[in-house]
Amino acid sequence: MNILIINSGSSSIKYQLLEMPSAQVICLGMIERIGSKEAILTFKSQDYKIERICEIPNHKAGLERITDLLLDNEKGVLKSTDDIEAIGHRVVHGGSTYTKTTLINEEVKNKIKTLSPLAPLHNPANLEGILMAEELFDTAKQFVVFDTAFHGTIPVKAKKYAIPNELYNNKGIQAYGFHGTSHKYVSEKANAFLDKKNTKLISIHLGNGCSITAIKDGKSIDHSMGFAPSNGLVMGTRSGDIDHTIIFYMVNTLGYSLGEVNELLNKESGMLGLTGFNDLRDIESEARKGNASCILALEMNAYRIKKYIGAYIAAMNGVDAIIFTAGIGENSSLMRQLVCKDMDYFNIHLDDAENDLKSSTFREVNSIDSKVKILVIPTNEELEIAKQVFDLLS
Ligand code: AMP
Repeated sequence: MNILIINSGSSSIKYQLLEMPSAQVICLGMIERIGSKEAILTFKSQDYKIERICEIPNHKAGLERITDLLLDNEKGVLKSTDDIEAIGHRVVHGGSTYTKTTLINEEVKNKIKTLSPLAPLHNPANLEGILMAEELFDTAKQFVVFDTAFHGTIPVKAKKYAIPNELYNNKGIQAYGFHGTSHKYVSEKANAFLDKKNTKLISIHLGNGCSITAIKDGKSIDHSMGFAPSNGLVMGTRSGDIDHTIIFYMVNTLGYSLGEVNELLNKESGMLGLTGFNDLRDIESEARKGNASCILALEMNAYRIKKYIGAYIAAMNGVDAIIFTAGIGENSSLMRQLVCKDMDYFNIHLDDAENDLKSSTFREVNSIDSKVKILVIPTNEELEIAKQVFDLLS
């Protein structure tokens, strides 16, 4: 069964076509910088690797370009769009309504739209991807996998804010949790590796967005992002934890509009606000040259992660393994080293040589005497979505 996975972002579309249940990747790629004259389109199959710079004005045009490549006489991988049995869409915010993979209908689409103010960087683009895919692949069954779904198990004491009950009971104000597909995928890999019952894991997803989850016996029990994907860790352009009084001060005393503060906290803060760069590779390279703001930003980032690790060890009364995943978690040995430094009280010890090895596979980077395993696990949200869609159809 061919399953196409679509992850539609604000200015990008990532796609992957998989044959299930073999999990063979037939082709994959992405479009970046949608809306510009110099959008980048990539396509990779067993026989071809294509990269084109071209004008792609909107998501519709982007998905049309992808479809053309899939069906291309020479380089394509399909004869007709009918060869795709199902499409799995990643959608960031599903509220508390959807905790499982769901077949898309009008009600689901309306809910995604209603939740857009809570994930303004993501939900509108996710919905756009769904609408376009429905037009272009009209015979395929369309499913949605919500980033919030895995966190449906977080207990009320952890997801409720200490504000009047009415807001939780009737207005849906609570912590939801995000990056669920990734945390689920890597935690299942870790559990298979540990091969024991009743595990306590801390999963750290560090990419453009960053989040950390406490996972007890395979279930998410606490998570750093909250009502929207903005709380918690320092991210590429998002501030993470901040005292909400600052927002009122900026509006009432400094003269910012609420919209400006929202833009500033989501798009101009985090590592970008601290250093002028949002890609960690640039920040690390500047830090190596002695750039003081980059050195401090790296320390602040790691310090925030450490504090959450401490909190989650307390919440679970222990930890068996700490997982690093996503672009930074998988590739930055420096970030892993800063996070794991001076954690001997918890019996967390990194093996520096193992940590420095470059690899893109599952690996254990703790020293032999470390009681807590430190695992680097490449995430694969596309495969996880394909598995969930396949399970529903079979
Ligand atoms: P993701 O959202 O998972 O695709 O992660 C993207 C981020 O990973 C980029 O913005 C970079 O900051 C970071 N990244 C990717 N490769 C490396 C690397 N080799 N070293 C440090 N950071 C990296």
